[in-house]
Amino acid sequence: MKFIVDNNVGKLAKWLRIMGYDALFFNGSDDSRMIATALAEGRVILTRDTQIVKRRVVTSGRLKAILITSDEPELQMHQVVDSLNMDCQFRPFTICLECNQPLEERSKQQVKDLVPPYVFQTQSQYMECPACHRIYWRGTHWQAMTERLKKFMKG
Ligand SMILES: [Zn+2]
Repeated sequence: MKFIVDNNVGKLAKWLRIMGYDALFFNGSDDSRMIATALAEGRVILTRDTQIVKRRVVTSGRLKAILITSDEPELQMHQVVDSLNMDCQFRPFTICLECNQPLEERSKQQVKDLVPPYVFQTQSQYMECPACHRIYWRGTHWQAMTERLKKFMKG
């Protein structure tokens, strides 16, 4: 399952990436372009724009779009998870939160000079984004985020 996230619900992109879903952030204002991308790449549209879900391509079932109803990012996320019956523990820690690229595994030695010494001493698993070269590890920040994800599941 892949997504395209409209800029009116932009925070959802990050949460979906945390779960390991490919979530493209659409920052334009041309709805037709977003729809074209969604169709071409098989992405589900997440939006607060009622006009989009009224389009024939959506009402006919050719394109899946979810009309997000809440202002609150957590409730928005819950709506998405609920309506698509998604797994919050899908593939956590596999997608770059900044650029939506699949992360690549790195050995401890490879990241030695790239992470703070206390991280190097305590963490053994590392991932790197091939696009922005950000290094990821399962630190406390990560654990806090996965705890919040579990709450989305329970609602
Ligand atoms: Zn990146």
